[in-house]
Amino acid sequence: MVTRPIPVYLLTGYLGSGKTSLLNRWLQEPVWAQAAVVVNEFGQVGFDQQVISGAVQSAQLLQGACVCCEGLPALSEMLADVFWARLHRQVPRFEQLIIETTGLADPHPVLEALRTDPLLSKRYRLGGVITTLNASVGLDLLTTSRQAQAQVQAAHVVVLTKMDLVADHALSALRQRLCQLNPLATFATSAHANFSAQQLLALLPSTPSAHPPLVNPSPVQGQPHAHSVFIPMHQALQAPRLLAWLALGLAQFGADILRIKGHVQLVDSGYSALQWSLGDSQPELSPASQQPGRSDLPPAGLTFITRAPLSASCQAWLAQWARALDL
Ligand SMILES: [Zn+2]
Repeated sequence: MVTRPIPVYLLTGYLGSGKTSLLNRWLQEPVWAQAAVVVNEFGQVGFDQQVISGAVQSAQLLQGACVCCEGLPALSEMLADVFWARLHRQVPRFEQLIIETTGLADPHPVLEALRTDPLLSKRYRLGGVITTLNASVGLDLLTTSRQAQAQVQAAHVVVLTKMDLVADHALSALRQRLCQLNPLATFATSAHANFSAQQLLALLPSTPSAHPPLVNPSPVQGQPHAHSVFIPMHQALQAPRLLAWLALGLAQFGADILRIKGHVQLVDSGYSALQWSLGDSQPELSPASQQPGRSDLPPAGLTFITRAPLSASCQAWLAQWARALDL
């Protein structure tokens, strides 16, 4: 039996750039109804996977290690396993595979693995690299974050998200910077995830090649570039108290904290999702997509993704917070 290589779409984008919201939408569309998804997340407790599972026939979670550095061997192994499982009909027959990387991943090592690994290069082919970038903080990020630059450089399509939050003059400076970093990419825009998979596929080249890193070298493989700390929450909290506590920490250690996400038990509104990303004025609380009583509900607690190495004062603040919640 001849099996054609399966297209792999690499979805990348800095922490809080809205890639999970877009992916969640894309998986509901007929063009990607037959897609399998690999979600790579920092931290022991999956959050993004909770958001997309249910929308897709096959979702795999790769946790704890980032696919561009210490998690790369596990990703290669997972792609090989998923290929054999498909061939032996142990999973639904997917026609595309989408890899959602962590927000801090440099896509180039993953592209290199797809190109050079004997099994992966034969069984899969690159469908394209899609990079989301939060337009309201994009210019700052592209100045300060090597990963954000690498993500733009690797992209075939850059989707500028949160367009409703950005002024025209800031946007033209951002566009200029993007064209310098990656003159070959196509740019698209999205506000409230209103950019469809069909629009995306129309913008991707039919036989994309991997863009080489143009300016900056990739992060050193095998060296983690962020930490994640999970703080369990065993008791229900008042929302104002929780938000005040987080606001205090962000005011003091905002430079160390890259993302906060998880589920919390609130006195008034029950089990809720909490998210904060760079550029947000305060954490956002929303009703959890899954309700208590389901056995696969993730435990209540917050994952803090922080810079590595983490400052001692921020470490102490997180430890104090963990002690206070463990009552
Ligand atoms: Zn990495």
